[in-house]
Amino acid sequence: MTRRNIMALMALIAMAVIFTASAYFYRMRTFRRTDYALNTVITITASGKGAEEAERAAIGEIRRIDAAFNAHSQTSELAKLNGSPSGEWVHVSDELFALIEKALKISAKTDGAFDITLKPVSDLWAINTENPRVPSDDEIANALGKTGYKNIALDRDKCAVMFKKDGMELDLGAIAKGYAADRAAAIMRKNGIRSALLDLGGNVFAIGKRADGKKWCIGLQTPYKQRGQYFKKIYIEDSAAVTSGAYERYFTENGKMYHHILDPKTGMPSESKIKSATVVCPDSALADALSTAVFVSGEDGAEKIAKSFKNVKITVLLNDGRVMEY
Ligand code: ADP
Ligand code: MG
Repeated sequence: MTRRNIMALMALIAMAVIFTASAYFYRMRTFRRTDYALNTVITITASGKGAEEAERAAIGEIRRIDAAFNAHSQTSELAKLNGSPSGEWVHVSDELFALIEKALKISAKTDGAFDITLKPVSDLWAINTENPRVPSDDEIANALGKTGYKNIALDRDKCAVMFKKDGMELDLGAIAKGYAADRAAAIMRKNGIRSALLDLGGNVFAIGKRADGKKWCIGLQTPYKQRGQYFKKIYIEDSAAVTSGAYERYFTENGKMYHHILDPKTGMPSESKIKSATVVCPDSALADALSTAVFVSGEDGAEKIAKSFKNVKITVLLNDGRVMEY
């Protein structure tokens, strides 16, 4: 081989190395997208080929779910069901039926701590609006009369829902973000993504591991402290981690704080002595619903819930500062 040929060969090898390396780094490039839907900030971080498009598709799916299952929009499928009189079967989409069915099963297994029929009561408190207020005892008693997950009848064959009492309305606010995270993650996986983190306002879902091969690290926020002050870190892969806390949405009246997670038995903000409840499991809708249920159920309830669901890990921060794991 002549000296010139050797030089040419070496140049070729160098080019091949540069090309392969840049293709690799392009594939591992990380994209982050921040958006707003489901009444919360959504951040998706994903690595790999097609990450940007996969994130766009995921956001589209989250918006679709928001439009269908938002109880406070006039045009959602859920709003149409909510207007229906008692004793009348209403045909709903397979998707809405499945979500209501799932919610009712969770209610039954959490002794009613999770209950999607609380809307008449939460509307009174109006916590997510500009004008929250403390309702009177009579108002609460009256609204509670229109609640109760056992007052929903389902007909699986007809894919229909019936309210057994007048004035009933459903609110999927405590499960919809988790469900949306499940669906968005499925779409990203279908798009070939093997490493991503979806954060829907505290509803976190991890696909695979981080691009550097380590598990995703999730900080559990210390309530009422500056963002980023964690009382614990947990590590997850292919799993959801969902936290419910009183510290995100609340108002104060006459020096007392009123938050947005209600005890279905009293219609009042729950007083379970839990500051924050985190549920880790592969099913994000379940994690979302259970984090709310655990928050309502307190220390003993948390242990019971952990025992009655498979693959569910629970971490709670109690008002007295203790951190419990089940
Ligand atoms: P966040 O939406 O802040 O993440 P949650 O997932 O705990 O919190 O859901 C709370 C929302 O669900 C409330 O804003 C209300 O609309 C509704 N909700 C309140 N209490 C309950 C309950 N015990 N079971 C089911 N839904 C509830
Ligand atoms: Mg929830």
